[in-house]
Amino acid sequence: MKRFISQTRAVNVVKRFTCDELVESLTAYLEGALDQPAHEGVRAHLACCEGCGRYFEQFSATIGALGDQPQEKLPAGVRDRLMSAFRERHRP
Ligand SMILES: [Zn+2]
Repeated sequence: MKRFISQTRAVNVVKRFTCDELVESLTAYLEGALDQPAHEGVRAHLACCEGCGRYFEQFSATIGALGDQPQEKLPAGVRDRLMSAFRERHRP
């Protein structure tokens, strides 16, 4: 008698992010635009990656400081500045 073990979809699948992918997904994450596995993946990555955790704090602080700017309207310039600051810090 054969058993079906195709229940893997029920297991919590968490997307694994590289640091670059995480940075790219951060805006969507803050907007709540990510699907569940991706959202959990971002959370998990932020929890265990010091660099991205710090970047995330900086990122949300910047968005908060913009005040009257809706999150999804984060000016491209601000995002680019944060992104390049982040990349430089990760450069050897
Ligand atoms: Zn990271």
